[in-house]
Amino acid sequence: MPETNIDVEAHVKAMVGREYGRVYAWDPVNQPMIRQWCEAMGNKSVLYHDSAFAAQSVHGGQVAPPTMLQAWTLAGVNGETPPGSSAVNPYEAVDFLTNNGFPVNVAVNAEQEYFRYLRLGESLCFTSMLESVSDLKKTALGTGYFVTNLMTFMTTEGEKVGTMRFRLFVYRPHQAADGATAETQAEAPAQPAPRRPHPGVSDDTRFFWDGLKQGRLLIQKCSACGQLRHPPAPCCPDCHSFAWETLPASGRGVIHSFVVVHHPQVAGIEAPNPVLLVELEEGTRLVAGLVGIERSEIRIGMPVQAEFLRVDEELVVPVFRPI
Ligand code: ZN
Repeated sequence: MPETNIDVEAHVKAMVGREYGRVYAWDPVNQPMIRQWCEAMGNKSVLYHDSAFAAQSVHGGQVAPPTMLQAWTLAGVNGETPPGSSAVNPYEAVDFLTNNGFPVNVAVNAEQEYFRYLRLGESLCFTSMLESVSDLKKTALGTGYFVTNLMTFMTTEGEKVGTMRFRLFVYRPHQAADGATAETQAEAPAQPAPRRPHPGVSDDTRFFWDGLKQGRLLIQKCSACGQLRHPPAPCCPDCHSFAWETLPASGRGVIHSFVVVHHPQVAGIEAPNPVLLVELEEGTRLVAGLVGIERSEIRIGMPVQAEFLRVDEELVVPVFRPI
């Protein structure tokens, strides 16, 4: 193991520019995957559901939602890729850092660019390149490097159809950063418990947080067309009206989807913590926490009821309890 950050940094930066070969898609662009993806995402666009409509559209036939770009080339659940795919790990820089003092990583962001719509029957693949490794950065999570991989998606004939920049922060968490041992930590003076971070509240979202303090779950409703929207925004995405009112939700809904967050751990929130996407009976969806059930018992479709959790004197958040 290299002894200093400088050795690690020089080694990993020397990897920048490395290219990794093709990984193929298991299946060509196909209607069943489009249907299932649209169902999961709540995308009801007729373009993706009605082949007769698609044939009459500017596309002249069935196309896939551009944001499915990466879905076509994802590996199997155990990481299996189709025959002919490159077996070289495009994340070797991340693995190197992980094994050399930066053991934790978290996905930071992904940026996709689409060059054209994909049509049914097209076979895709992608290549990767290690685009950049940042200088050593100190963040609230710890100290480490931002590592960016550029994936280029193309047809098997080689026509580029889109890209994705995927950025990870590979880091050493704060508690291990200065070599502190359990003993030295025990000697440190008692600190007040860290406060849970507060959401950024703006003039567009204040009604929602104020409503929670009054025990009301308020959903924004377009005054012109009646469409509900959450999270709050100044303009209706359907009719572009700026006029809006609020609808007090019943708080009843079902678990549409959920994740259990292990990393990154956030001060003031117990980990691992379940995060729900709840479909409210009024028809819109909301991200919130869950109480009153073991994690292993959480099921999609489970009916839930909103409660109001007072975090501190300034913040109340919605949480849901199975009913
Ligand atoms: Zn509207």
